[in-house]
Amino acid sequence: MATEIGFIGVGNMGGPMVNNLLAAGYAVVVCDAQQSAVEACVNAGATVAASPKELASMVETVLVCLPTPDIVREVALGSKGLVHGSKIKTYIDLSTTGPRTSIPVAEAMSEAGIVSLDAPVSGGVAGAIAGTLAVMVSGPHNDHGHHRPMLEKIGKNVFYVGDKIGMGQLMKLLNNLLSGTALAVTSEAVALGIKAGIDPALMIDVFNASSGRNTATEAKFPNAILTRSFDIGFNTGLMFKDVRLCLEEAEALGVPMFVGSGTRQAWAYALGKGEPADDSTVIMQHYEKLAAVEWPND
Ligand code: NAD
Repeated sequence: MATEIGFIGVGNMGGPMVNNLLAAGYAVVVCDAQQSAVEACVNAGATVAASPKELASMVETVLVCLPTPDIVREVALGSKGLVHGSKIKTYIDLSTTGPRTSIPVAEAMSEAGIVSLDAPVSGGVAGAIAGTLAVMVSGPHNDHGHHRPMLEKIGKNVFYVGDKIGMGQLMKLLNNLLSGTALAVTSEAVALGIKAGIDPALMIDVFNASSGRNTATEAKFPNAILTRSFDIGFNTGLMFKDVRLCLEEAEALGVPMFVGSGTRQAWAYALGKGEPADDSTVIMQHYEKLAAVEWPND
């Protein structure tokens, strides 16, 4: 019999993860606020629960991949939350919510006899589809070991960051501070190059053969900005959330973040001028307007 697991939040990231778990032979029960997201999973072979509580009364292991800290708290601990389920033993949070959410949620879960693991992921929608995500796990060592084979179906790079809840989440925030900084500063550099008359595609080729190479030059610019498709699949609201959460950790721990503060300002600007649902690569368009440059052949 297939191992039964639950999965809540089957959007851009969670949907492909569920497909990979189904393909690996897991029986997956899903729950999501959006009917279209649920239907895509049902078509791939999943079954459905009406609420987190109902789902947590059907399976022992529940994974969540949800957008914001508030939604994670509600799904985990709200009146119809996972904590009230009768069968759940392990709660695994794949979302990026930061230690300030994962620690209190894990404490409340623990009072109900439920073990929690942090397992935020990186690698984007492409990595979720290919099953190549990096997974940053923290929590009790034995529970990590028990669930590792399942997590390896989601991402081939499963890192055990430490035994304390929050460590995996902090690791993910550090990663996204770097990736958010790379995208913002590469957009600044490319806007300047265009204004001086250099072709943007040539600039990206030069960076990728030189020391300015980063995740924006290697993936985001070639796949979503040079193409003007702006569809990398990670939105501006999520990027601002991750950078903000990272800066909050830095402030709480007394670590200066001079460059990180600039990154937060850049993403606050992109959010203020656009929408949370804008693809994060749209930040380049904000720099084009600020610098008064026309994208060649646009
Ligand atoms: P998404 O908005 O595409 O998906 C989130 C899903 O959660 C949606 O289907 C939504 O309907 C569902 N949802 C929202 N509220 C709910 C509720 N109360 N109950 C049940 N379902 C609910 O977001 P995403 O891009 O898949 O990101 C999810 C998480 O993964 C975020 O924490 C994000 O920071 C993180 N993440 C995203 C990426 C990326 O490239 N998109 C990469 C790494 C990590």
